[in-house]
Amino acid sequence: MDNCIFCKIAKREIPANKIYEDEDILAFHDIHPAAPVHFLLIPKLHVDSLADIDGSHHDLLGKMLVLTPKLAKEQGCSEGFRTIINTGRVGGQEVFHLHFHIIGGHQRLPGMIHQG
Ligand code: AMP
Ligand code: ZN
Repeated sequence: MDNCIFCKIAKREIPANKIYEDEDILAFHDIHPAAPVHFLLIPKLHVDSLADIDGSHHDLLGKMLVLTPKLAKEQGCSEGFRTIINTGRVGGQEVFHLHFHIIGGHQRLPGMIHQG
């Protein structure tokens, strides 16, 4: 995808503070961290969002999920972390290239969403 910022990061066309890379996956620190640990895990393959996943992505998604706790622990989340996948307009997604947010730190994170 020509105009996708995360594709550009995956192709090294724009810089990112990378913490992990293999042939399929990249992880880098979020530019606006919401907690002491906040990094993003993306597939190098462009997929708009979790709503666009199908069976062909099975192994890729499994690999990303297996990698998540390993990287979280390496980043210092020894006592837990939160994984968020914002999906679509209602889900608050801003960058339309599938990504996992991994968020943590030393203190307990605030509670989940409450109906207002
Ligand atoms: P979302 O609302 O789930 O689409 O979140 C997109 C996330 O990408 C936000 O937390 C942004 O701070 C983050 N972000 C956007 N551009 C960059 C960038 N160039 N490098 C690192 N993180 C970014
Ligand atoms: Zn992309």
